Amino acid sequence: MNKTYPFEQSPLPYEADALEPYIDRQTVQVHYNGHYKSYVDNLNAALEKSPEYQNLTLEDILKKPNDIASEVRTPIVRNAGGVYNHMHYFNGMTKDGAEGPDPDSELAKGIDDFFDSFENFQKEFSAAAAGVFGSGYACLVASPQGWLQIMTFSNQDVLPISHGYVPLLTLDVWEHSYYLKYQNKRADYIAAWWKVINWQACEKAYKEVADKLKPFSFEDMMR
Ligand code: MN
Repeated sequence: MNKTYPFEQSPLPYEADALEPYIDRQTVQVHYNGHYKSYVDNLNAALEKSPEYQNLTLEDILKKPNDIASEVRTPIVRNAGGVYNHMHYFNGMTKDGAEGPDPDSELAKGIDDFFDSFENFQKEFSAAAAGVFGSGYACLVASPQGWLQIMTFSNQDVLPISHGYVPLLTLDVWEHSYYLKYQNKRADYIAAWWKVINWQACEKAYKEVADKLKPFSFEDMMR
């Protein structure tokens, strides 16, 4: 996959019907082939007109949006955000998701440390996702210090990355991600999403953050 212009969609890591009955085939198809693809196409169209930014990665664009000239910034940054958020959302799901992270993983330990228990984390995350006003995302993030927290953001903002945080688990709560099956019942969609989470991907992303901190005694800091 290209890391710079022209950007491509990250491949859908499962069949469109793999998340049934929790996330239905039609929603996955429209969301992936329609919405997500539009962000990629629109980002490439915006960059086509601004060759000076064609060597930037998504991370470059999103971490330093103010390095992009104001006249062309909005379409580039907004669509890069859409690409980035959708990549994380689709990669964060899998067929036959587990009930939660592997109990021996650093992620499971981190969740216990920062949210008291997995059940409590689930409750807090679901409430945060349900409470996003209008379109946006809920995200479990790791701070640069390895702390876990829940963040919500609107539209195609990318709060985590622009603040140095790493998104570990991203839930899209735009209506297009659930309306065909769940209509106005966002809470039902959120409850179903817990059944298809790719915990291995989430554990891996957290381990990468934790490993970077190891020289600074990550284990000690977690106590
Ligand atoms: Mn979406």
